[in-house]
Amino acid sequence: MSNIGETTLEVDLSALEHNFNYLKSKLKPKTKFLAVVKAFAYGSDMVMVAKKLEALGTDYFAVAYVKEGVLLRDAGITAPILVLHPQPINFAELIDRCLEPSLYSLRILRLFLEVAKDKAQKDYPVHLKFNTGLNRLGFWENDIDHILNVLNGRSELHIKAIFSHLAASEDESEREFSIAQINSFNRIANELNEKSGTPFLRHMLNTSGILNYPEAQFDMVRSGIGLYGYGNDAKTDAQLKPVACLKTLISQLHKIEPGETVGYNREYKSDGYRITATLPIGHADGIGRQYGNQKAAVLIHGKKAPIIGNVCMDMIMIDVTGIDCKEGDEVIVFGRELSAESFANSSATISYELLTAISQRVKRVVV
Ligand SMILES: *Cc1c(COP(=O)(O)O)cnc(C)c1O
Repeated sequence: MSNIGETTLEVDLSALEHNFNYLKSKLKPKTKFLAVVKAFAYGSDMVMVAKKLEALGTDYFAVAYVKEGVLLRDAGITAPILVLHPQPINFAELIDRCLEPSLYSLRILRLFLEVAKDKAQKDYPVHLKFNTGLNRLGFWENDIDHILNVLNGRSELHIKAIFSHLAASEDESEREFSIAQINSFNRIANELNEKSGTPFLRHMLNTSGILNYPEAQFDMVRSGIGLYGYGNDAKTDAQLKPVACLKTLISQLHKIEPGETVGYNREYKSDGYRITATLPIGHADGIGRQYGNQKAAVLIHGKKAPIIGNVCMDMIMIDVTGIDCKEGDEVIVFGRELSAESFANSSATISYELLTAISQRVKRVVV
């Protein structure tokens, strides 16, 4: 019998602490640490992870949307929380819950000013996001004068920080581009500082940036994936510990004859005598169809068993021929013994997508 009983995502807070300490060891003593806990802390458990990180001394948190910040406040998190991608419809709630918005365009800046004025705010802290090459969100370098014009004579907000985001921090072959982004951010920060005459925090690096561009730590860094145990390269992965371990169990074993098929659309055709196992996990749990048809494999008693046929909504079938196992036995989908990065890479995606896709119907257990 498996001791987990049903599909379970184990969240290992000691691994989180290890990763936090490893990343902190890469920082200068004064560099602040912002923990990115968006998307349920990369699919793990946002509240438990944030509480642990706050206890460890995390200076800041970031989430993508206002509702995520509200969950953190409801859980009692008191550290500052940056909302990376708020929508104007949620600005009032953002202010009510003392969340700090990323403002990334003149439209968004003006809309935020209006809400801050309606709510009689003074010096409300905001982060201005500058685009230095990712071309996703952000003001452009030549928006600085427009920003200062819009803010001229207004006291509702103050620029607490400015930030930018590297497009290819994990990619050594893009080093030149990353350095150009860092230089551009430096220019923007200096110009804005001179013209506004006020100080503010600067932050730019994500996990791979911390590892590859130590000279660009500025006042704060923003780490997500590294906290959860992945570093976008094998050398770093060896130093980190996966926080999430996805486990399931064998519901049923089948003996398959040569020429028989397995699963929807009869996608798997057996060329011999096979033993298959059916597991209670499917694309509705976050194991997408791209992992089926022998792309990815899971672990049973330390042995790899490929997913065969199409992934169903609530089930996958795996080939356990030659593996000594029985119904009820535990199966590891990913975790310490089989990394989420390698599971994801088998199907042309990355750990970020696999981790954040594990749906909320999967039970989370903190260990
Ligand atoms: C998600 C995100 C991060 C975290 O990146 P990792 O690669 O997971 O460390 C940092 N900054 C911004 C703007 C993000 O959207």
